[in-house]
Amino acid sequence: MKQIRLSKSCLSENEKEAVLDVLDREYLGMGKDVQEFERLLEEYFARPVACVNTGTAALHLALQAIGLNQGDEVLVQSLTFVACFQMITAVGATPIACEVDPNTITIDLNDAAKKLTSRTKAIMPIHYSGGVGDLDAIYKFAQEHKLRVIEDASHGFGSTYKNRLVGSFGDIAVFSFDGIKNITSGEGGCVISNDAKVMSHVRDARLLAVEKDTEKRFAGARSWDFDVKHQGFRYHMSNIMAAIGIEQFKRYEEFKTKRQNYAKLYQKNLGNNQSVGVLDLNYDQVVPHIFVIKLLKHSRKEIQSHLEKFGIQTGIHYQPNHLLTYFKNIKEVSLPISEAIAPRLLTLPLHADLNIDDIEFVCKKLLEVLK
Ligand SMILES: *Cc1c(COP(=O)(O)O)cnc(C)c1O
Repeated sequence: MKQIRLSKSCLSENEKEAVLDVLDREYLGMGKDVQEFERLLEEYFARPVACVNTGTAALHLALQAIGLNQGDEVLVQSLTFVACFQMITAVGATPIACEVDPNTITIDLNDAAKKLTSRTKAIMPIHYSGGVGDLDAIYKFAQEHKLRVIEDASHGFGSTYKNRLVGSFGDIAVFSFDGIKNITSGEGGCVISNDAKVMSHVRDARLLAVEKDTEKRFAGARSWDFDVKHQGFRYHMSNIMAAIGIEQFKRYEEFKTKRQNYAKLYQKNLGNNQSVGVLDLNYDQVVPHIFVIKLLKHSRKEIQSHLEKFGIQTGIHYQPNHLLTYFKNIKEVSLPISEAIAPRLLTLPLHADLNIDDIEFVCKKLLEVLK
């Protein structure tokens, strides 16, 4: 039986050849391939970009770069990847779990406003599935309350908001290039910002905070005589990863069109069914990383095991973080909307190696059981 995977890396001969080329050159660390990948991304976003080895590391460095201290608070939706919460606590700050707008699963600003305190320093909006919610309102809110904004745009590579590319404007944006994201570099991620202080912090901090080591490595050299002024990590990207990223970036238009078309097809086939809800997103603007439905009547387990019988893999994005032991122990809260909606969310297969027939098949099998 054909297996329809929830998500996967979509690789061609191009990526394989690019990796072999790096291996042949025998310079595997951070060098000219990383420099070239950053250059391509800087051209695309028209902003400074720093690549690192995971999206999680990108979040960590962005949070560190804005100078958070012990006890500072960051507003973040509970329904997100656990990396967001983990990296907030990693810098000693406290994640303040917020509700979501059930139509888009993006942060509910009314709830966030209720949770403001004198210790609130930043807001981290998650561009869930690729949609950004009311980003203008988020920036207005941040400005009013003097908050830094770190956009977790991991799901939204290529998405636009009011015809502007997400990541090309705003305070700080973070992307992930892990194996299944809209483009991959194996693992990987990046920080994008126009704030020169943030970017220079991130560039140094990814290389153990060895000052200006980035420039040395891009010139194929090393720093033997240097100073270190703050905490750093080994978070830099390798040439192997960048080589994959460069080839994926060149194929991006194809990935983007497929992801948008498949989401539109799901939306058309499932949007009018009484038993499911789809997110309120415009797939001419949004490039979706995942396609999520809300099960209004059926149990998720029942639907998942039915689809599994036909080789269709499904996923769950996400468990509410405020219910996980570690975060509950830091700050106990109750979020009725997130708690009610989370068990109803189901993610359907979406990646660039699927075809129209696969999506039709998933819809057919799903509609069969929803009847
Ligand atoms: C993928 C992802 C990240 C970063 O993940 P990495 O796997 O570390 O690259 C962060 N936030 C969200 C919402 C994600 O989906």
